[in-house]
This record gives sequence, C-alpha cells and structure tokens, in this order.
Amino acid sequence: MPGLNTLLDAFQRIYGTRPTKIARAPGRVNLIGEHTDYNEGFVMPIAIDREVLIAARERDDNQVHVTALDVEGGQADQFTLDDIPHHPDYRWANYVRGTAYYLAQENVRLTGIDAVMTSTLPSGAGLSSSAALEVCTATILQAFTPWRVGGVAIAKLCQQAENHFVGVKSGIMDQYASALGERGAALKIDCRALTYKAVKLPRGVTIVVADTNKKRHLAGSDYNTRYMECRNAAMLLSQLLDRDIPALRDVSLKEFKTVAKHLPDNLMRRVRHVLTENERVQKAARAAKRNDAVKFGALMNESQTSLREDFEASSPELDIMVEIARKQEGCLGARLTGAGWGGATVNLVRDEHVDTFVQQVDWEYRERTGIVPWVSPVRASPGAGMIEWEQGEAKA
Ligand code: ADP
Ligand code: MG
Repeated sequence: MPGLNTLLDAFQRIYGTRPTKIARAPGRVNLIGEHTDYNEGFVMPIAIDREVLIAARERDDNQVHVTALDVEGGQADQFTLDDIPHHPDYRWANYVRGTAYYLAQENVRLTGIDAVMTSTLPSGAGLSSSAALEVCTATILQAFTPWRVGGVAIAKLCQQAENHFVGVKSGIMDQYASALGERGAALKIDCRALTYKAVKLPRGVTIVVADTNKKRHLAGSDYNTRYMECRNAAMLLSQLLDRDIPALRDVSLKEFKTVAKHLPDNLMRRVRHVLTENERVQKAARAAKRNDAVKFGALMNESQTSLREDFEASSPELDIMVEIARKQEGCLGARLTGAGWGGATVNLVRDEHVDTFVQQVDWEYRERTGIVPWVSPVRASPGAGMIEWEQGEAKA
C-alpha cells in the first residue's frame, strides 16, 4: 500500500516505536453535481483510491502531537485537547485542530495521541485532500475512544471544522464522500436530507482524473463569492416568488424561468447553473442505471459548459485539459471537478482506451501549457476506516 511504509518508518524515527493504530480516509472525485451541495441539492461523487493516512499511539495526557510528513519534509504541531485555539501559521494544522475541536463538542471524550500523517492525494487539486485530512483525523481520534460517531455525523463535524475553523464555506459533499464512500459505486447524495443512494457505475468505462497542476487556495477566493451569490439569489427569488426559499434547492426550473429576467444577470446565470446541474445529477443516475455510459458522459459535458459559462468556475488550464480530453478516442465526457478555477478534471473513458488516453492527455497538456499534469485512472473506493497491517506491510 503506497504511503504505509513511509508512515511506519517516520513514526519509528520520530517516536522511537511503532504506532498502534492507522486510519485512512479517501479523497473524492465528483462525477457530476458541482456547486450544488451548499445549495442543498444533489451531487454524485466517488471516494477514490488515494487517501490520507494517519498513524498514531495513545498518550497518557491530553496532548496531540502530529507531524505532517508531506509539508516541507515534516512539519510538527502540538496542542492540548482541553483548549484548542487556531494555529497562527500552519494551515494544515487547523484542519487537524478544527476536527478535534468539533469532535470534542460531540461529547466524545478524547485522549491525546502521538501521530504522523501522510497522503497519496495531490493537495489543492480539487480531490478534497482537505476533507480527507479532516475525516482521517476524526477517524484516528475516535479509534482511541469507546465512542463511535456515525459516518454522517463525522462528515458534518468535519464540515464544521472546514467552514468555521479553517474558514472555507464548503458544502457537505467532500466529507460525506470521504466518510461513506462505497467500492464500485458513486454516491448520489441529497445534501439536504443527508441521505444517499449508491449508483453503480456503467460497465466498460473508467474514471480518469487529470490535475492541471494549477492550484488555487480556496479560503477567501471565488468559492466564497459564489456561495454568497447563491444565498443572495435565494433571497431575491423568495421576494420574487413570494414564499420562503431557504436554498436554491427549493426553486424549480419552471418557476425560475418565470422570474429569471428580474434577477441581475450574474445571479440569473448562477441560479441557472445550480438548477440545471441538479437535474443533470438525476439524469446521470438514471443513465447509470440503464448502463448508458454515453448519456452519462454527455451530461458531464453539459455540466462543464454550464460551469464555464453560467457559473464562471473554469480556468484557461481546465478548458485546455477538457478540450484535449474530448479529442481522444474513447472519451465519453470531460469536465472540471471540485470547486473549479484550477485543480482537476474528471473524465469518463472506455476501458480499452484508458492507457492511450492517459499518455496522450499528459503529453498534449505539457506541450500546450508547459505544465506537467497528473493524469490517473481512479477507482470508486470504500470510505474512511482503520488499516490492518503487519510488520510494516498492509495485510491486503
Ligand atoms: P483540496 O481539498 O481540493 O485538496 P484545499 O485547498 O481544500 O484543496 O485543501 C488543501 C489544503 O489541505 C492544503 O493547503 C493543506 O493545508 C491541507 N493538506 C492537504 N494534504 C495535506 C497533507 N498531505 N499534509 C498536510 N496538509 C495537507
Ligand atoms: Mg478542499
């Protein structure tokens, strides 16, 4: 298992012993349903076979000591569970601290740990390394208590950490997928009810992620602007339609069309994206059920157009990556995934064309941009849990 031996070696080096528990939490790639989660609509992510790993042993006090191996060759933080303030400098540490803070609010009596963390997920690529980090932190902290907080509760408290401790107003999708992912299936999540249906992926196709390697920090960026635009649009729509509209989820496309001309142009387009995107998620779930990969891919393409033109969440590199992907044989759909403005695309590719697709996209993107991308097939994987290992090796 990639990352595991690095983790065990580092633990030995730092603490002079072996860890007693190791937790894993996957990143996710959203197949369709972008910027719909915080509008309480529908999304369809898979948890992927790339993850954050944390190895730990119990301490006999309330201190958490944690080293992030991937940050500048190893950066350490320590704090006490009795009173968890923000870390003034380390961004990554606030994901850990925030999660511990909100887990403690659940009346889970935590014990201190010595921990080491690493990841096989690219950071800042839109594959939710941040959510994986939070969910992994919650999973390892919980593992040393007799209490068990359920998957949805974990997702919610990790979202709180990201929203209020780190300050990114992300929706529930990322943490939900990381906590509850299923092998071989996407999760069609109702982001209001916080329930999901497993959607088996069409046969004969592979999900390929292509990271543009143009990163964008989320906090304080366009993401929060869009979040506020959607809230403002919901308020305006509630005046126009003369009823309570807690979220854009509560407006039908038909209703929206009757009042769209009264909205400022930018808000009109934001709403149009969110409402049509919710419909695309439903259609994609039906297409998957019929094993119709071609229709599924076409819906992904429509999602990209809507994200680029109405939601203005694409970027020059994302557009280039999508354009290159769509030219390849066997590519049924390509779109940006995650928040956008940088990060990765998700592609639906026929199995027999995956190898050529990966090589060609990698090469053509380098040629066009001078940037080295990261292009890789991913598999729908189970949500967070504990890893069993023996003598430095994963059991299975
Ligand atoms: P994404 O979630 O799409 O990867 P974010 O900007 O939301 O992008 O989260 C990236 C942040 O998460 C990084 O800036 C860092 O603080 C933290 N992070 C991600 N991976 C790691 C890691 N392996 N070790 C430490 N911190 C990490
Ligand atoms: Mg994130």
